[in-house]
Amino acid sequence: MRLLVIGNGMAGARLLGEVRARDKDIEVTVLGAESRQPYNRVLLSNVLAGSSGPDQVRLLDPTWYGEHDVEAHLGTRAVQIDRQTRTVTAADGRRFPYDVLVLATGSQAVVPPIPGAGRALPFRTLDDCRAILADSRGSARAVVIGGGLLGIEAARGLAGRGLPVTLLHLAGHLMERQLDAEAGLVLGETLAGLGVDIRTGVSAAEILPEGVRLDDGSLVEGDLVVLACGVRPETELAVQAGLEVRRGVVVDDELRTDDPAVFAIGECAEHDGVVYGLVAPAWEQAAVAADVITGAAKDARYRGSRQVTRLKAKSVELAAMGETHLTEEHAEVVRFSHRATGTYRKLVIRDGRLVGAILLGESAAVGTLTQLYDRGAPLPGDRAGLLFPGLAGTAVADSPVRMPDSAKVCQCNNVTKGQIRACWESGARDATAVAAATRATTGCGTCRDAVEGIVGWLCEQEGVSA
Ligand SMILES: Cc1cc2nc3c(=O)[nH]c(=O)nc-3n(C[C@H](O)[C@H](O)[C@H](O)COP(=O)(O)OP(=O)(O)OC[C@H]3O[C@@H](n4cnc5c(N)ncnc54)[C@H](O)[C@@H]3O)c2cc1C
Repeated sequence: MRLLVIGNGMAGARLLGEVRARDKDIEVTVLGAESRQPYNRVLLSNVLAGSSGPDQVRLLDPTWYGEHDVEAHLGTRAVQIDRQTRTVTAADGRRFPYDVLVLATGSQAVVPPIPGAGRALPFRTLDDCRAILADSRGSARAVVIGGGLLGIEAARGLAGRGLPVTLLHLAGHLMERQLDAEAGLVLGETLAGLGVDIRTGVSAAEILPEGVRLDDGSLVEGDLVVLACGVRPETELAVQAGLEVRRGVVVDDELRTDDPAVFAIGECAEHDGVVYGLVAPAWEQAAVAADVITGAAKDARYRGSRQVTRLKAKSVELAAMGETHLTEEHAEVVRFSHRATGTYRKLVIRDGRLVGAILLGESAAVGTLTQLYDRGAPLPGDRAGLLFPGLAGTAVADSPVRMPDSAKVCQCNNVTKGQIRACWESGARDATAVAAATRATTGCGTCRDAVEGIVGWLCEQEGVSA
């Protein structure tokens, strides 16, 4: 069987590994438009902020393809799929036959249709990141357009490098998809304290060499303009090939499109009406697709993912999950806000289970609440204990001791406490060894403290019982 994968990003590269882990014989070819080895796109914000170097984000070693008998064509863009002859044509005219085709083409950054948009730099690829960093060195002031997760991470990263930054956002508050208005306000105040000038409810009309002209005619000065205006699934090939496409390429629970020989995974795919913009679903989809394609688990099915968003910006702790916008009419809402300390916590509870949460500001509750949300487990009656673990008389503490083995610790790689314990029992004695065995911590990296906590606790237990 010849498997052809289009897209060598986070979903495509993961699929290659998942397929090879199950089957050594399938002929595997991958076409990647980017000329680089696949890298962890999630960590680009860290590269912009300077906490990771560009060489520390690689997903696969250059030798991996040869060692795993995968034919990789980097810097090769697929331009046409012929489903009759089962052939894909690349931009350079080469043709690649397939029996099974997987689309893993991701998304492209949205560029707003305004004059001068070509002067601004998008923030999607490692090359974009390098271009922003190069320009930032000679810049006096930056403007970031877009106050979603990416725009905030970009603005915080540039401000952390000492560059004055203005963040422009069309909606009335930051991250309006994940946060309610008050959380958006508290987040804005926290960022303002870190040197980011926030302007919400404003619309960019033109990008000029000296800055961004708003639609009220005023100018926001800046010689570096970064675009973080959202992403659009890269579906052009699928549309041309006549596959069913809504917002993304429509797939079923096997990740198959309406052509049984063609699959789609990652940000280009739409499953059950949802296009995911996070890496955890992309990696779950890659595992299911590999099961189905290789026949390793023919009945494997993808049933959708629970979405947890965590901001990776120095000195700003934020996790948001689920249905954060439900009001008291439709759910039980437990809320605590203390703007002076940048703290906002909100739990949205329905039928005794956590269906949404916002945790802004440092909080020991993040791990426990993420697990409760993830498992859909019944909540303890003590709501204060959920918001303030460790408070005298409260029940829930975010400690490795209390965590059940089924609790998911690494959201990106779907690794539970039980798996970390098993890995420790087989000899792993630090987070790096656990990462090598389970991949925990290798996605967005925000679970590293939790993994270290579990390993440390197990080591302590060993010391106690020895
Ligand atoms: C700065 C930044 C920060 C992020 N932070 C987080 C985070 O904290 N947590 C989180 O979960 N997610 C985060 N994300 C999102 C995450 O990176 C994506 O969800 C993930 O990369 C999706 O994987 P993918 O393979 O579907 O798409 P991509 O990683 O974009 O890969 C798609 C690949 O396909 C290639 N391609 C496209 N068309 C073709 C073609 N015709 N021929 C050949 N190749 C093609 C592209 O060049 C690209 O290399 C972040 C994204 C960015 C940009």
